[in-house]
Amino acid sequence: MADDWTPPSGDLMKGKRGIIMGVANQNSIAWGIAQQLAAQGAEIAFTYQGENLERRVRPLVESIGMDFMIPADVTDDASMDAAFEAVKDKWGKIDFLVHSIAFAGKDELQGSMVANTTREGFRRAMDISVYSFIDCARRASEIMPDGGAMICMTYLGAERTVPSYNVMGVAKAGLEAATRYAARDLGPQGIRVNAISAGAMRTLSLAGIRGGKSLMGTGRDWSLLKEDTRMEGVAGAALYLLSDLGHSVAGEVHHVDAGFHVVGVPDLPED
Ligand code: NAD
Repeated sequence: MADDWTPPSGDLMKGKRGIIMGVANQNSIAWGIAQQLAAQGAEIAFTYQGENLERRVRPLVESIGMDFMIPADVTDDASMDAAFEAVKDKWGKIDFLVHSIAFAGKDELQGSMVANTTREGFRRAMDISVYSFIDCARRASEIMPDGGAMICMTYLGAERTVPSYNVMGVAKAGLEAATRYAARDLGPQGIRVNAISAGAMRTLSLAGIRGGKSLMGTGRDWSLLKEDTRMEGVAGAALYLLSDLGHSVAGEVHHVDAGFHVVGVPDLPED
């Protein structure tokens, strides 16, 4: 884990089944959320991007006593059809979905957004990081006859400019808008759709951003709490939004970033 943490156990997710998409290794945000939901009694189907990741993900999944794992590449309709079909075959219906997936090329995640964003890079970032959530929301809602809850993961770069975040900031703005529209469409079916805006955390995705480690330092030093964003806070917010504690919450972008997003000017030196 990125930080020492034992998820609090209980029954808040007892009787609930759902899909978690986006575990790549033990530092993945999706893995922190999975541990928390499992500790509260959830049954989880894990999707992973491909065979290369299976070797890393399987021991994690088994460590929490689970074994339902399905390959799913969000850019491949046949792979997505097969993944959701596998869940439907096994469980018939689900109660929650966690989408914790994003991608942009290294060349795009540095320097000038204007200079470095190619048509193909833009298309790929939008497809994997935004369209995939819309696609998952549709597929998951079809197997949520009793209502349910979904979350996706976003970042402050959607709302404000962040160095190197570039096309991913544009994608996250799209993802946040997609969250609101999906919440509107699915609300009448009793499905709550929300997003968590996490502060910078040390994961594979962060390593792909030029200067990503400095984003963590700035996030900590400028934050109201003067600390890094902790997995327990992100996973706790996911538990709140996906369990019955989150009743009446829909279309929300909930920040878990030690208060960084409200800072306009950092602390000033003494005169
Ligand atoms: P991560 O690298 O552990 O997770 C990203 C996941 O996306 C991986 O599991 C990867 O396999 C998956 N993915 C990429 N392309 C895919 C494809 N075509 N099909 C299926 N899966 C694919 O990194 P993370 O930081 O845990 O990222 C999870 C989410 O959290 C992302 O949406 C990310 O933008 C968001 N987020 C991260 C931070 C941070 O600082 N790490 C902050 C806020 C939001």
